[in-house]
Amino acid sequence: MSINQVNSGRFQGKCAIVTGAGSGIGKAAAIKLAKEGAKVALFDLLNDRTQSTEAEINNIHPGMSHAFDVDVSDPVRVEQAVREVAEHFGAIDIVFANAGINGAVGPIEEISIEDWQKTMSINLNGTFLTVKHTVPYLKKQGGGSIIITSSINGNDRFSGFGMSAYSTTKAGQVAFAKMAALELAKYKIRVNVICPGAIATNIDSSTEVSEDLKEIIIPVEYPEGAQPLADGPGEAENVADLVAFLASNEAIHITGARIVIDGAESLL
Ligand code: NAD
Repeated sequence: MSINQVNSGRFQGKCAIVTGAGSGIGKAAAIKLAKEGAKVALFDLLNDRTQSTEAEINNIHPGMSHAFDVDVSDPVRVEQAVREVAEHFGAIDIVFANAGINGAVGPIEEISIEDWQKTMSINLNGTFLTVKHTVPYLKKQGGGSIIITSSINGNDRFSGFGMSAYSTTKAGQVAFAKMAALELAKYKIRVNVICPGAIATNIDSSTEVSEDLKEIIIPVEYPEGAQPLADGPGEAENVADLVAFLASNEAIHITGARIVIDGAESLL
C-alpha cells in the first residue's frame, strides 16, 4: 500500500513517539501509524534518512510528523525531546522504543569495555530512558501503549557468532518490558515486547566489527530456508503491522506479552 492510501483512522487524534524512526522497522512503523491517523514524533540521530521519513509523511499529511534530533542514550536530550513532543503535539499516547544497533560484535575476549558499554547505552539505556520519560505523559492521558523492539536473539534463538553484547541487551529489554507491564497496568498503560527474526533493514551498517570477521558475521547472501514461512528475511512493514496492532484498542487486553515475528526462524 502506498503512503497516500489512508486506510482507517484507528489512531486519529493520537500522538506516537517512534525511536529509530529514520530507517528500517522504525520508519515503517512511523509511516503505518501516520497512515492510520497518528501524529508521529520521529526520534533518531538527525540525518538525511530521518528527514526524508519526515518529508514522506508530511507530504501526504501536512503537520503529522516531526523529526527530533535525539540520541536515545543521552538522558538529558531524551527528557527534553519528550517534553518538546508534548508541547508540539499536545499529548503522548503511543511509544515505540525501537532504536537499536548491533553494536560490538566479536569474540568476548576482544570486545572492549567501551564498545560493550556503547551497545548497552543505546539498546538498553535508550529503552529505559524512552519509557521513563514518556510514562508521566501516558499517565496524564489515562493510559497508553508502549512497544519495545527486542529480537529473537534475546530469547528464542541465540544465533550469530559474536553477538554477546547485542543478545544481552535484547534479553534485558524483555525483562524490562515485563516488569514495566506489571508496574504500569494500574495506569492502563500496556507494555509489550516484540522479537523479530531477520528483517531486511540497514542494521548491519551499525555493526562494529573488524574487517577479517565481517565476512563470517555478516553473510552476503541470506541463507536459503532460514525463515520457513518466507523466501528471505521479513519486511519492515510486517513488523509495522504488528506494532500498529499492539498500539491499537484491538490489543486492549494484551500487556506483558513477548511476541515473536520471525517466519518460524527460531523454530529451526
Ligand atoms: P536500522 O539500522 O535500519 O534502523 C535503526 C535506526 O536506529 C537508525 O535509523 C539509526 O540511526 C537509529 N539509531 C541508532 N542509534 C541511535 C541512537 N543512539 N539514538 C537514536 N537513534 C539511533 O535497523 P532496524 O533493523 O530497523 O532496527 C530497529 C530495531 O529492530 C533495533 O532495536 C534492532 O535491534 C531490532 N531488530 C532488528 C532485526 C533485523 O534483522 N533488522 C531483527 C531483530 C531485531
